[in-house]
Amino acid sequence: MSVTTPEDQLPCDLLIDGRLHPSTTGDRFTVVDPATTETLAEVAAAAPDDVDRAVEVARRAQAAWAQLPPRRRGALLVDVARAIRDRADGLARLESQDTGKPLRQASADVEVAAQYFEFYGGVADKLYGDTIPLDAQQFAMTFREPLGVTGHIIPWNYPLQISARTTAPSLAAGNACVVKPAEEAPLTTLVLGQLALDAGLPPGVLNIVPGVGEVAGAHLASSDDIDHLSFTGGLDTGRRVMAAAARNVKPITMELGGKSPSIVLPDADLDRAVPTITNAILQNGGQTCSAGSRVIVHFTRHDELVERLVDAFGRVVLGRGTDDPDLGPLISNAQLERVVGHLTDATGDAATVVCGGHPTHPDGLEGYFVEPTLLDDVDPGARVAQEEVFGPVLTVLRYGDEDEAVEIADGTPYGLVTAIWTRDVDRAMRLARRVRSGQVYVNSYGAGGGVALPFGGYRHSGFGREKGMEALAEFTQVKTVAVAVRPDEA
Ligand code: NDP
Repeated sequence: MSVTTPEDQLPCDLLIDGRLHPSTTGDRFTVVDPATTETLAEVAAAAPDDVDRAVEVARRAQAAWAQLPPRRRGALLVDVARAIRDRADGLARLESQDTGKPLRQASADVEVAAQYFEFYGGVADKLYGDTIPLDAQQFAMTFREPLGVTGHIIPWNYPLQISARTTAPSLAAGNACVVKPAEEAPLTTLVLGQLALDAGLPPGVLNIVPGVGEVAGAHLASSDDIDHLSFTGGLDTGRRVMAAAARNVKPITMELGGKSPSIVLPDADLDRAVPTITNAILQNGGQTCSAGSRVIVHFTRHDELVERLVDAFGRVVLGRGTDDPDLGPLISNAQLERVVGHLTDATGDAATVVCGGHPTHPDGLEGYFVEPTLLDDVDPGARVAQEEVFGPVLTVLRYGDEDEAVEIADGTPYGLVTAIWTRDVDRAMRLARRVRSGQVYVNSYGAGGGVALPFGGYRHSGFGREKGMEALAEFTQVKTVAVAVRPDEA
């Protein structure tokens, strides 16, 4: 294994019941560095029996975990946060190798992962119920109870951060977790499982079962023995996962991506807007569910904005993630082909390529790089303006009045994040109310904008909320207890 890891030994097996196991079939899959295509690791591929065993173990561990005083559970999660920070450099390097993302992005992801455990560790003993004034003869109250065993299917774009985002609130609420990381990037999730154990999390409370989506993921999604499923990934896979979970009437949280717009009003401060809009699409190579992939600009500011964006895109340095460039490779050849397919489709009537538009090999690297690409005069109905490209491709669309801006902004099946750039607070608030979007940022951008901010989609971007106190509601169920008391003894 040619990987520099925070461990002497990188955990490449299934983590079930606090121990590493090969899969029952002995199957393994290869994980590569997307910048070089070199092999990083051979990881055990969970079979359905392994997933069943992880769920069974989690079920047993959950009973004792839920019985721990919440303050103690919370303290253990804060210890996990500390353990993540203690290993931040090694984890960031590993994440960068595994996903191709620039090292500073990987470091930010590691810090945010720690913050999730810290935040939810802090609220584990604050999951209050309500009292309900019913009538003089009854005391009525609610209790927030854990669901039991929660399944988590993780994508490859922010493996460590999303693993933390979804497991930390579940664990805080007293559930036990079974996590299926993505084939392309499972390594930091495996390390997270190991270091959580080392930090004192009881064995079996956090189980990691890497494997093939159609096998391990599909089996977890269709299990009748889990009590909740969190899925983050593409729309098509999300539909399959929903159908599988529906058969057993399992509650689910779906985080399915977006086609998020930045609306640039006539009075926008472009000095502030341009760097943020550039980062919103190029961060993580555009492989972000909340990537700001469309800019909807008032026609009076169009030429100036495009000129500045071309300048910003032209200064972007591509390279291997661990060398900390501005832009790393895409995750895989399949993803590169998807992006190139979109670009081929878009050229012609649907859009004008202003810069970029091609695969490239910076410094002779063999990996899956594509140039930062700006598409102008894009037809709002074109495929490239409607579907997730998941690459460093920004589409520019013009508008004339506010109604048209909203129509274009809301004119895709998605509704995850919207940015509004203006100095006029009245217009900003008016637009924030109107757009159909799970988050709205005024003069800024970032679904990452703090672990405390509820995050999730409208429409095809999904449902349920992650982050903040909202996520805890997803991982608990409410029990109402009404106690009738005898009237006063006369
Ligand atoms: P997927 O949605 O297929 O992958 C996400 C996770 O689901 C992975 O762990 C995957 O496992 C798993 N999975 C795959 N098939 C099944 C199944 N039948 N049942 C249960 N789990 C399954 O993403 P892709 O890699 O195919 O990417 C395709 C597109 O999805 C991207 O181009 C992008 O548009 C979008 N996407 C969106 C993300 C987001 O954050 N919203 C994240 C990733 C992708 P495995 O890795 O083994 O396939």
